[in-house]
Amino acid sequence: MPKLLKNKVCLVTGASRGIGKAIAEKFAEHRAIVIANAREQGSIDDWAAELSKKYNTEIKPFYFDVRETDEVKKVIMDIKKKYKRLDVLVNNAGVVTYEMLGFVNTDKLREMFEVNVVSPLQLMQLATRLMGRQENGSIINISSLVGVKGVRGQLAYSVTKGAINTLTLSASKELASKQIRVNAVAPGMIATNRLKNVMSEKFQDKIDDIGFERLGKPVEVADVCLFLASDLSTYVTGQIIGVEGSLNI
Ligand code: NAP
Repeated sequence: MPKLLKNKVCLVTGASRGIGKAIAEKFAEHRAIVIANAREQGSIDDWAAELSKKYNTEIKPFYFDVRETDEVKKVIMDIKKKYKRLDVLVNNAGVVTYEMLGFVNTDKLREMFEVNVVSPLQLMQLATRLMGRQENGSIINISSLVGVKGVRGQLAYSVTKGAINTLTLSASKELASKQIRVNAVAPGMIATNRLKNVMSEKFQDKIDDIGFERLGKPVEVADVCLFLASDLSTYVTGQIIGVEGSLNI
């Protein structure tokens, strides 16, 4: 199989587990140099070393919280110093809460906005300084189908994902002249631990809402990210691409 990301420098946030981990592995499989973000110091060292060897590339763990502005600036400076470029940014790190309108806690909403919207925006600001110089780059924001369609019971979360969608659309217009592409991937229900934790009781009800009659796999989201990160999508920008197996919400 051709290696679609050979030597591209790709930053993936929230790569400690779930979808972000699958994206980082998929990119490594395609020979990208992957800057994999996690929060807990040392937590992905072994995994990164193993995959670097397996795929004959470099997965470099960078430990930081995406909300910490100074740390995030330092990371981009380090990438600039070491690699002189950044080709792909995947804003994947995210948090979720589950509640109806009447139960939305506005403090929690603000916290969630920090991780799901403000931090991705800030990373985009910093990343595009490098990408702008190169006049090339791909930004992939991991959104959610609930940010497109709305949903009962995840109101605050859906608002943050709606915001990331409009951030994607507006930024794609601003950055087009620099040949920087900005797209969002909107998963439906993907089998990661966080989903399993909240679904255990109502599992069958939820599956019944999916046309494909199964949850999505993290790698199925990663495959779409691979397309958007690679030169297979050089004319694709400003799109919100669903990965949702005909989910009815
Ligand atoms: P997950 O298993 O809960 O993983 C979330 C990731 O985000 C973890 O790596 C976590 O790191 C990281 N993270 C959270 N807060 C962070 C912070 N302040 N700084 C740095 N990293 C932080 O979630 P997932 O299911 O893989 O979801 C990944 C993305 O897909 C999210 O944006 C989510 O909204 C979106 N999504 C998921 C689904 C789904 O069905 N699973 C559906 C639609 C959209 P730690 O390990 O340090 O906590």
